[in-house]
Amino acid sequence: MVMGSRHGGALLLMESNPMKSSPVKGLLIFFGVLIVVGIIFSTLNLNAAKPATVDLGTLAHQVTAGQVKSVAVKDSTLTVTLSDKKVEVASKESNESFTALMKNLGVADDKLAAIDLTVQTQSSFSAWMSVMLPIVLPILAIGILVLFMMRSVQGQNSRAMSFGQSGAREYGKNDKNRLTFADVAGSSEAKEELMEVVEFLKSPKKFVAVGAKIPKGVLLMGPPGTGKTLMARAVAGEANVPFFHISGSEFVEMFVGVGAARVRDLFARAKKSAPCIIFIDEIDAVGRQRGAGLGGSHDEREQTLNQILVEMDGFDPSIGIIVMAATNRPDVLDPALLRPGRFDRRVTLDLPDINEREAILKIHAASKPLEKDINLRKIAERTPGFSGADLANVMNEAAILTARRNKKTTGNDEVLTSIEKVMLGPERRSRVINDLEKKTIAYHEAGHALVFHELPEADPVQKISIIARGHAGGYTLKMPTEDKRLHSKAAFLADLAGSLGGYVAEVEAFGEDNVTTGASSDLRSATQMARHMVTDFGMSKLGPRTFGNKEEMIFLGRQINEERDYSEHTAQAIDAEVTRLITDARATAEVVLKKNRATLDKLVAELLVKETLEREEFEKLVGPRPKIA
Ligand code: ADP
Ligand code: ZN
Ligand code: MG
Repeated sequence: MVMGSRHGGALLLMESNPMKSSPVKGLLIFFGVLIVVGIIFSTLNLNAAKPATVDLGTLAHQVTAGQVKSVAVKDSTLTVTLSDKKVEVASKESNESFTALMKNLGVADDKLAAIDLTVQTQSSFSAWMSVMLPIVLPILAIGILVLFMMRSVQGQNSRAMSFGQSGAREYGKNDKNRLTFADVAGSSEAKEELMEVVEFLKSPKKFVAVGAKIPKGVLLMGPPGTGKTLMARAVAGEANVPFFHISGSEFVEMFVGVGAARVRDLFARAKKSAPCIIFIDEIDAVGRQRGAGLGGSHDEREQTLNQILVEMDGFDPSIGIIVMAATNRPDVLDPALLRPGRFDRRVTLDLPDINEREAILKIHAASKPLEKDINLRKIAERTPGFSGADLANVMNEAAILTARRNKKTTGNDEVLTSIEKVMLGPERRSRVINDLEKKTIAYHEAGHALVFHELPEADPVQKISIIARGHAGGYTLKMPTEDKRLHSKAAFLADLAGSLGGYVAEVEAFGEDNVTTGASSDLRSATQMARHMVTDFGMSKLGPRTFGNKEEMIFLGRQINEERDYSEHTAQAIDAEVTRLITDARATAEVVLKKNRATLDKLVAELLVKETLEREEFEKLVGPRPKIA
């Protein structure tokens, strides 16, 4: 296994979806409570001791005799309390008044007046329940059934009820988590460009007064983890305006038309709080070129994209709305999005260079207690190709490691260990390997290291280890001493030979028949590298041209690229060139390892004892590197 400078592998924390507490759940609880209450009431009604029933004639007698203390009239029911506190009930026609009835039955006015008469026009809750429950319960049961079915169709994250709402998170003005440009290290050109946006948002009138046309859309482009989302929030914070944050994938739902409705809702909300920023993260999820998709959700995507275009054309920029968007795939965006009047400002965020890496590390070290002698510059040197997110991850891992070691402050060692953990996954010291396997891994890694060392065009070896890490049995870490943007053919050839160094060393030490599966990922990456050299970089006998069109389509979540723009005959020639490059690389590795067999054995012996060798120890063992001829 060879590890060069790289990126990726860092886990980005996603913000959790604010719409998780589903409305269906709330409804279910409500209905459940209703049913329980109903049942309790109906049983109460059944169990209550029933008072005696009297007819109206008897009641009239009792009234005349002065035995009645009070009467409560409720619809057609009369609840009578007698002077001796006994309770009885009587019925009347509901449309006739109690007093009129009594008078008809010959009760004197003064007797009637002595009664404490209360009239309840509204039926009480329990009476209502006893009438309604038999009707409502079955309906409820059916309703709940339907809801359950809807829920199971949509899975946990039901959004049936929040259909056309954008669901954008809003960060208000003066938010306490407000970010500013000071929270974003490096990227000074990008900040300069975005300063214009900030000034406009602060005082739109100033610009409108002089007839300046304000950009509507700003597209942030750059590889994952370079701080696009961070930068957008910093712009909002710097201008101190509200910030509406939504991710492209949130527009696309199972219901057709939701995406477009959400876009409308989002812009409507934003217009109410202008000046503000609308931020559409990962816009490539909806903004891919129209007509290129094959999947079913593709119409939906188009509608959403069209709605974004309509909304962007529709608002008057002088009210102070700026639409920002971020993508790491500007190449797949629909050209309509990039046209003037839409996302015509484009700001690129690149992987940080060494100075920027140091600055990013400083930001993420600020909240952590560090040892005095910690050397962030050295850490920046060790991390070419790392994105801002990777570096944030490194500092966080270092803090975790510090706590686990029961230390109070983070030192160089914790950070350097974390770099490898972020690159390769955690060490797996506990994995049991037998002596032969260990020796095989040692030869394999020593082979890589020695070939890289002897070919000066390759990056220098930083570390060799035969401790398992992630999927790798052992690893050789090589890293450029400075940031490189361009890669020469000579460097590719050296890299190819080096990545076959492990395989060749195994053959040298144990014979052709005892080569192990340990080399499989090396062979794969070597083959890919050789293929890129031939088809993308013009570094083969086939000359300076590219082969294959990387027009991309997404089908069922998989990428289908490779549109052939060459003949079957050329395809064979490409295969032959790839094979030739690899055969040559193997021969180079063989020459190096045969010539330095004694050094190889010495290196293996040292590795078996120490398990890991740092650059200094390694170079002391194998001597100085040859100079580039
Ligand atoms: P992107 O949106 O480009 O994928 P993010 O903005 O989500 O990347 O960055 C992820 C994290 O990486 C940020 O929250 C921040 O902690 C860190 N980060 C990235 N770039 C920088 C930077 N230039 N300065 C400080 N921190 C950064
Ligand atoms: Zn290997
Ligand atoms: Mg992002």
